[in-house]
Amino acid sequence: MDDFLKERLIKYDTWLERKQISFSSKIIPLNKSLSAQQWVLPSEQVLKILRNAQSVAVQKCGCRLHYSRCDNPLEVCFVLNKLAELSIAKGRARPISISEAMDIFHKSDENGLIHLTLYQPDHEIYALCNCCPCCCHDLLLMKICDRRDLIAHSEYVAVTNMESCNNCGKCIQRCIFEARTLNNNRMQYNSNLCLGCGLCSTICEVNATVMMPRNPQ
Ligand code: SF4
Ligand code: SF4
Ligand code: SF4
Repeated sequence: MDDFLKERLIKYDTWLERKQISFSSKIIPLNKSLSAQQWVLPSEQVLKILRNAQSVAVQKCGCRLHYSRCDNPLEVCFVLNKLAELSIAKGRARPISISEAMDIFHKSDENGLIHLTLYQPDHEIYALCNCCPCCCHDLLLMKICDRRDLIAHSEYVAVTNMESCNNCGKCIQRCIFEARTLNNNRMQYNSNLCLGCGLCSTICEVNATVMMPRNPQ
């Protein structure tokens, strides 16, 4: 593990120990992954976070600037409130309207980036991020250090109809949370490991996988 990740892990563990955070980030699923009626909800969730913030700014993704492992869009990292003001004052971020922020959010959706809200002490959201598994510090910590506890699942879960599944295996590569595996040429899905990102459902050409509310009301 390099210093970039080590610093964050030490910070998270200190905050967790002091019970200042319950997790470092939480997933919001891809809008596209949800059926017409349901997919409004994550957009609403994002809109609510943005509208409730006193200041919103967008900055270049620090993780992708640090690692440069992919060509995903860079200006997709939203910072909120005091951090937004500080980042604007330091010239690291620019203020952004809610409609432009939503456009960037939807473009990130199209690029298959994972939406994460990041938490600071007092359980407050300080950033709304669009992350890739090759550069994101939280996703890397989860993978390298087996720290699944750092990331909270979304309010959705993938559901696969095994009768419609043709075992093409495309969803296996998309699921960075290892909920999907190939066994004797058959795709196997363990819903207990699903964090509800939605990436598997947008790749499934036969619609065998859909996203459903985790706890239907
Ligand atoms: S958490 Fe995500 S969007 Fe934010 S800087 Fe890291 S990869 Fe970029
Ligand atoms: S992408 Fe769809 S069809 Fe292919 S293995 Fe996954 S669930 Fe089955
Ligand atoms: S099965 Fe994997 S890719 Fe699909 S929603 Fe769950 S965590 Fe995401």
